[in-house]
Amino acid sequence: MLITCVGGGNHGQILAPLEELLVARVPECERQRIENQKFYLVTVVAPSSTASFRGNPFPADGRFQVLIIEWKFLFQLRAELEQLAAVLLHEIGHTLNPPPIRNVTEAEHHADDYARYCSFGSALRQNLTRCLQSKMDGFDQTLTQERIRRIEANDQLKLNLIAP
Ligand SMILES: [Zn+2]
Repeated sequence: MLITCVGGGNHGQILAPLEELLVARVPECERQRIENQKFYLVTVVAPSSTASFRGNPFPADGRFQVLIIEWKFLFQLRAELEQLAAVLLHEIGHTLNPPPIRNVTEAEHHADDYARYCSFGSALRQNLTRCLQSKMDGFDQTLTQERIRRIEANDQLKLNLIAP
């Protein structure tokens, strides 16, 4: 499993086809890098919720990453697995492809470029365009426009991958 899902309900029904898509498209070396970091997907149900990690195998060294995604958003994207995969790869990119110098804009570009590197640039662009059009909270308009522009122009990838 690339990503372990924490939580019940029908989360698994979404994660299984998503996992299939990621295995088919993400380059082998990146699948290894993702697996090594031990990502757990936790969904948030508004306005607050709890997640039980019971029953999930925890890594022996106690080190793992938590991907947090709003359940409503996950559910909305369930039919568009590519876009869901792009969102997750962007978040994974924040861990696996950090900018050399801490900077909010650079962090977003590096996370985007990780998703592009894993062949999900076009799906990511669709997500960003949708977020921009719906004026979704938390999306800085100028930064989002620049992120879309970089993907459309196929700007050179900013890669600063952590050791596998
Ligand atoms: Zn981000």
